[in-house]
Amino acid sequence: MDQPYSLRAVVVPLDPTPAQEQLLRSYCGASRFAYNWTVAIAKANLDTRDEERRSGIKEVDLTKLSWSAWSMTPLWNSVKEEVAPWHRDVTKHALCSGVTNAATALKNYNESKKGLRKGQPVGFPNFKNRHSKQSFTLIQFDRVGNWFSDDSRHVRLILPRFATDPRITRRREQLQWLHTTESLRRLKGKVISGEWTVQSVTISFTSGRWQASFSVRQHVISRPSAKRRLGPIVGVDLGVKHLATLTVPVVGLSGASGHVTNPRHLDDELVRLAKLDRQLSRCVRGSKNHAQLRLRRQRLYGRIARTRNLYLNRLTTTLAGSFETVVLEDLNIAGMVKKSKKNTAKALSRSILDAGFFELRRQLTYKAEDRGHRIVVRNKFYPSSKMCSHCGETKAKLALSDRVFECSNCGISLDRDVNAARNIRDEGLRLLTNEVSTVAGHQPETLNAVSRDRETKPLRRGRGDRYQSRTTQPIREFSPLA
Ligand SMILES: [Zn+2]
Repeated sequence: MDQPYSLRAVVVPLDPTPAQEQLLRSYCGASRFAYNWTVAIAKANLDTRDEERRSGIKEVDLTKLSWSAWSMTPLWNSVKEEVAPWHRDVTKHALCSGVTNAATALKNYNESKKGLRKGQPVGFPNFKNRHSKQSFTLIQFDRVGNWFSDDSRHVRLILPRFATDPRITRRREQLQWLHTTESLRRLKGKVISGEWTVQSVTISFTSGRWQASFSVRQHVISRPSAKRRLGPIVGVDLGVKHLATLTVPVVGLSGASGHVTNPRHLDDELVRLAKLDRQLSRCVRGSKNHAQLRLRRQRLYGRIARTRNLYLNRLTTTLAGSFETVVLEDLNIAGMVKKSKKNTAKALSRSILDAGFFELRRQLTYKAEDRGHRIVVRNKFYPSSKMCSHCGETKAKLALSDRVFECSNCGISLDRDVNAARNIRDEGLRLLTNEVSTVAGHQPETLNAVSRDRETKPLRRGRGDRYQSRTTQPIREFSPLA
């Protein structure tokens, strides 16, 4: 039996020498060539079948061809001498990854057509050209220890074993270690200790720079079930005005009211982006200037994305680390963006996307799992902002511009987001206590569903605050850089 594992990616920026960069580009080109070859074969197969259908051949007798990587790779190997006589000058891994990626794309198309795949419909794979994303994957890691240099600052680049190109054969020594601008010590340590296994490495030219992305298998050590303990709990309301509003303020992360500022990374750079776009539109396509400006724009977008990610990482590490239960609401982000676009609120849909809610939830989920903590996602149809967190009265309407929630029933006046966050937390609590009470043989009053040496007081529902102050430990002061 396979051990349970989770996959994660470790990305490090690369700093190749000009000779290495040339080799990387040739690998990317080779991978693309193999990808296009595979797609072309599949396309030709579809065309023959169509032709045969038209000439009246029965469905069962049509020419069959398996599109799987298992069938395509041997086919590629049998013809590569003919279609790619240069194949000895690139590593076979680059070529194989092209075939494998195309096979995956074809499989996705097939499954989508048959309705076996969730999400947006997937079309027949497009051919790639030199303006498409440049990447290749190195699989089959046989000697893992050798992938990192002794100083943990270099990654091994696989060189073609039977190369004929003197630019490669004469410079093997200089080519085989790629310098990384970040240390690989942590990754190397985890791999050597056996905690992580490197599954593949994808090297790509992304947002104006070369990077290596390690796909890592993390072996899951079985933890005590997180379902028993409630622990410190926090409700999180996500928004655009404030990126998040927490029911429990965290020092160094949120203000006293629990608001986490939305840094709006994109807004800061909008002027520069617009300027670059203007300059680009005046350039001749294909000129050196055009290429340079495109690169500058790519780098700027890359920087925005990385800054956003860094901020989100800080937030999610704190939340997942300080609280054992985090309650979120399920947001229909695609729907929100669509709606605001329809209302020509372009700035709002841009802000929604800039905030990175999906990434926030993704990070929070895996970080909580790592720590044996849990994430509760509340139903998106629950009226968290329209309901009074104090008495439960629901308002018929609440405009987005109303920042303060005023209850007509109990007269409470609260910040809109704070009110929503409390509702989210209370709903999370309700879901959890229901879940606990359904554990066989246990009554709801044993909140933790395990026998305790002291008595647990029954949970007072709907009054999250009082419950909170009784059971939660004070949150340790957190410094994200520690
Ligand atoms: Zn009220």
